[in-house]
Amino acid sequence: MSSGSEIAVVERVTAAELLQRSRDALRGSEHETARALAQEAADRGGPAERAEALCILATCRRLRDEYPEAIEAALRATELCREIGDPSAEARARSEVARALTASGETDEALGESLAALELAEAGADLGARIAAMTAVANVYLVLQQHDLAIELCERGAEMARLLGDEIANGALQDTVSCALLMQSQVARTRGDEQAAVQYSLAAAERSQTAMAIAREHGHRRNEACALGNLAEALASAGQPAHALALLDTWEIDPGRDSAFTITHHLDTRGGICVLLGRYEEAIALFSRALDVAESKGSAMMYCEHLAEAYEKNGDFAAALATYKRFHLLYCEVASEAAQRNARLAAVRLETEQAKASAERERLRADGLQRLSLEDPLTGLANRRRLDNELAAGVAGHTIALIDVDHFKRVNDGFSHQIGDEVLRELGRLLRSVCRADDLAARYGGEEFAVLFRGLTAAEAAAAAERIRRAVEEHDWSVVAEGLTVTVSIGVASGGASTPAAGLISLADQRLYEAKHAGRNRVRVSTGST
Ligand code: GH3
Ligand code: MG
Ligand code: MG
Repeated sequence: MSSGSEIAVVERVTAAELLQRSRDALRGSEHETARALAQEAADRGGPAERAEALCILATCRRLRDEYPEAIEAALRATELCREIGDPSAEARARSEVARALTASGETDEALGESLAALELAEAGADLGARIAAMTAVANVYLVLQQHDLAIELCERGAEMARLLGDEIANGALQDTVSCALLMQSQVARTRGDEQAAVQYSLAAAERSQTAMAIAREHGHRRNEACALGNLAEALASAGQPAHALALLDTWEIDPGRDSAFTITHHLDTRGGICVLLGRYEEAIALFSRALDVAESKGSAMMYCEHLAEAYEKNGDFAAALATYKRFHLLYCEVASEAAQRNARLAAVRLETEQAKASAERERLRADGLQRLSLEDPLTGLANRRRLDNELAAGVAGHTIALIDVDHFKRVNDGFSHQIGDEVLRELGRLLRSVCRADDLAARYGGEEFAVLFRGLTAAEAAAAAERIRRAVEEHDWSVVAEGLTVTVSIGVASGGASTPAAGLISLADQRLYEAKHAGRNRVRVSTGST
C-alpha cells in the first residue's frame, strides 16, 4: 500500500525535481537513494537531464567503487553533452570519467580526460564545472606524485568552492591537499630529512582536521571517514602513532552506510599504523580483512602489497610469497581490463574527432551553398540577387552603372554561342580588374552587367564608367576570336537620400537606352539629383 502511494508521488515529479533530490541525496552520502532517483530522472528527462543524471549515476558508481560502470555512465554522459552542445556539462562529465579512471588506476587516460575537462570548463562561466575539473586534475597529479601542482590546483579549487558556498567541495579539496602534503613528507623522509618530514605531516594533519570538521558539520560521512583516516596517517607520520590509533578508535564502521572503500581505507590505515608500532600480527589481520572486502582490483593490489610486507616483517616468508603471487595475478587482470577500457575510450575519442570533422564539412558545404546562391556561375561575378541585396540596404551616396554589350546578337550569330560565352567571361575578368575593392561588379542578366560604386561622387563614378567603356573597346578581343571587336554602352545614375533602389536602376536603364540610341559605345550620365 505505502509503496504504491510513494510511486504515485514520484510519478507526478518532473525529471528536474528528481535530479535535485538525487543531488541532495548524494550530498548526504545516501548513494543508493541518489542512484535510484538519478535512474528515474534519466528515464524520464530530456537529453540535458539524462546527461546530468548519468553523471550522478557515474559518481554513485564510483563512490560504490564500481569503476568500470562509473566510466561507462560518465562516457555516455559525455557523448550526450557533446550532442547537446553544452561544454560546461561536458567538462563535468569528463571530470567524472577522469575521477573513475584515476580510481581504477588508469592514470595516463585520466590525465588526458581531466586536462580536456579543465580546458572545456575554463572556456565557460560555470564555476562548479571548473571546480570539478580542477579536482579531477589534482587527483591525477597526486597519483603522478606532482605534489606541488596538485596542491596549487586544490588551493585554487577550494577558493572557488568557498566563493560558491560549496563547503563540501572545499572540505574535500582540503583533504586532497593533506594527501599531497603527506606524500611530500614521505619523500622528505626517504631523502633522510626527518625534520621536513614531520613538518609536512603536521601540516597535513591540520588540513585533514579542517576537512573532517567540515564533513562532519555537513553530515558527509564518506568524506569524514576519509579525512579521519588521513588525519590518523598524518599524526602517525609525525611521530604520534598511539594518538593516531586512538583517533581511529572513535570511528565505528557501519557496513549499512559505509562503502567498501571507506571500510577498507579505515582498515588499511589502521594496519599501517600497527606496522609502525611493530604490531605485525594485528596489521596482518587488518590487511587481510581489507583484502577480503576490497572494492576493486586496484585496491586489492595495494592491500596485497601491504599484507605481504607485514608477513615479511613478521618473518612469515611463505605467506609473503603467496601474497605477492596473488598481487601479480591481480596485476595481470587489471592490465588486461585497462587495455579493453582504453580501446573503448579511444573509440569515443575517434567518434568525437569524426563528429568535429563532419560538422566542419557541413559548415564548408553551407558556406559553399551560400556563396553559390550569390554568385554568377559563368563569370564568377556577383549575381543579380547579390546586387539587389546590396541595393536594398539603401542607395544614398551610391552610383550604379548599367553596362550592355553592343550588338551582342551579332557575336552569337557571327561567331558562336560558345564565343559569346567567352566574351561574357572575359568581360567579367575586365570588370574585376578595373573595379576597386569597394565597388561591386555584377552580372545583371544575359549580356548586361552592373557596377555599384560606393563612396564615389557622381562625377568620379562617371569617370570610372568611362574607363570601363574604354577598357572594353581597347581590349584585344582577337585572343577570343579572330576579327572580334566588342564595345559596351553604359548608363549611370546616382542615388539621393530618398531614392528607392528600383528608381535608381530604372534611371540608369533610361540612360543606357539613350546611350544606345546615340550610337552605342558611349556613357550617358544622369544629371541632377533624385
Ligand atoms: P544592343 O546593342 O541593342 O544591346 O544589341 P544586342 O544584340 O545586344 O541586343 P539584345 O540585348 O536584345 O540581345 C542580347 C542577346 O544576348 C540575346 C541573347 O541571345 C544573348 N545572350 C543572353 N545571355 C547570353 C549568354 O549567357 N550567352 C550568350 N552567348 N548569349 C547570351
Ligand atoms: Mg541587352
Ligand atoms: Mg546588348
